[in-house]
Amino acid sequence: MWTTRLAWSLVLPVPGSWRRRGLAGMLEGLCGGVADGLRRLGLDLRFKAPNDLEIGGRKIASCYLARAGDGLLFHGSVLEDVDIARTLKALRVPTEKLSPNGLAGARQRLTTLRQELGDVPPADVLKAALAAGLSASLGLAPVPGTADPPVAGRVDRGDGRDIGIGRAIAVDAGDAGSDAADDAPQAEALWRTPGGLLRARLGFDADGHRLASVRIAGDVLIDPIDLLDRLENELRGTPIADVHRRMARFLAHEPFEFWRFSGDDLHRVVRRALDRLHERRLFEVSLEQANRLTVMDPDGSPAEDIVGRAAVVLVPYCAKPSWCKWRHRDGCSECGLCEVGEAYRLGRQRGLPVVTITDYEHLCRTFAALRRRGVEGFIGMCCQNFFIKRHRAFRDSGLSMVLMDVTGSNCYELGQEEAAYRGAFEAKADLDIPLLRAVMRRVPSRTPRTDG
Ligand code: SF4
Repeated sequence: MWTTRLAWSLVLPVPGSWRRRGLAGMLEGLCGGVADGLRRLGLDLRFKAPNDLEIGGRKIASCYLARAGDGLLFHGSVLEDVDIARTLKALRVPTEKLSPNGLAGARQRLTTLRQELGDVPPADVLKAALAAGLSASLGLAPVPGTADPPVAGRVDRGDGRDIGIGRAIAVDAGDAGSDAADDAPQAEALWRTPGGLLRARLGFDADGHRLASVRIAGDVLIDPIDLLDRLENELRGTPIADVHRRMARFLAHEPFEFWRFSGDDLHRVVRRALDRLHERRLFEVSLEQANRLTVMDPDGSPAEDIVGRAAVVLVPYCAKPSWCKWRHRDGCSECGLCEVGEAYRLGRQRGLPVVTITDYEHLCRTFAALRRRGVEGFIGMCCQNFFIKRHRAFRDSGLSMVLMDVTGSNCYELGQEEAAYRGAFEAKADLDIPLLRAVMRRVPSRTPRTDG
């Protein structure tokens, strides 16, 4: 089986009757048009904000909308057939985006035209249904036509001008890509909001006093679409001490719409990136190493406060070799054959207990137990993908934490999140021991040292 989908792009002026709607409202209206079209094929769809169409809680289509001035770009696709494993492997996406239970959950979260209708309708039938639904939604009459480049159909605006339907294009959802001309290390950060993930990447001048490059992006809904580009331009060259003041001034004078996040979230992601400079000095590490730290504190305390209060070290079982008898158990004999032994040694040296997290449920139980014992914070290691997808569990723990990203084989890159969730992942991830040592150096000893 292959994964196939029908994709379309629609370029149109903002309909006159929609001018008072925000971007989210316009996206909902256009999604309603797609749903209307697909209902004509016998499907019972429901819109799920911000941009999905579902049948019985399972996603069958996704849509995206961007506005530039008076123009809209509406892009979307509907699944015809899907081979989940092949698709996720090709896209290298964490399957937890689709379900906490990985691949099996992903299958439960998606449906297709073939599953719902027993077969995939011919392309011209699908396109006609979409054109009819969108035309009704927009109050426009569809007329057949051709275009250069060719499109499958055209919709007349009613004033002689028309818009095209049917030719798929790629839409950049926006990542914080690098400035190609700038090879200098950059500070990076991400911030999870209810509306999506924000990313920031900042470069600095030779003195480290000003922003030389700025990239802020995210998997979020923003209107106008060039707002972040203009914010980046505004911040480029800004003294670091002035960054937030200038951001606040920019946002105060720009009309904008963010879906389920705010200007405060933009400040947070930029602040997190700037904090890298402090963490680099604090732990005496490179900027690249500082980028691999995640610092989280309910009160916004800096990293030095958190390591000062840390009372336990958490390591992931996947950093132990598959042949180690301790792989799926808490504990380590410190045999010296993997980095986890060094983590245990450093914890013992500082008087901090070390706990091997054996699966997701164990992580949640450990958080609850730490809170019951009055523990305020911990030093931990986990891959960034896991942290992003399990962000809520970390945040809701109420604990302060300094987390180090793990490298090497991880369940996300290998498409084995389901196994990892159950604690059955077999490959080995690597701990960054120099970074761990640097962080642990700042942890005050709880007991007299017992070894060197
Ligand atoms: S150091 Fe610990 S976890 Fe690593 S192989 Fe030895 S006993 Fe296993």
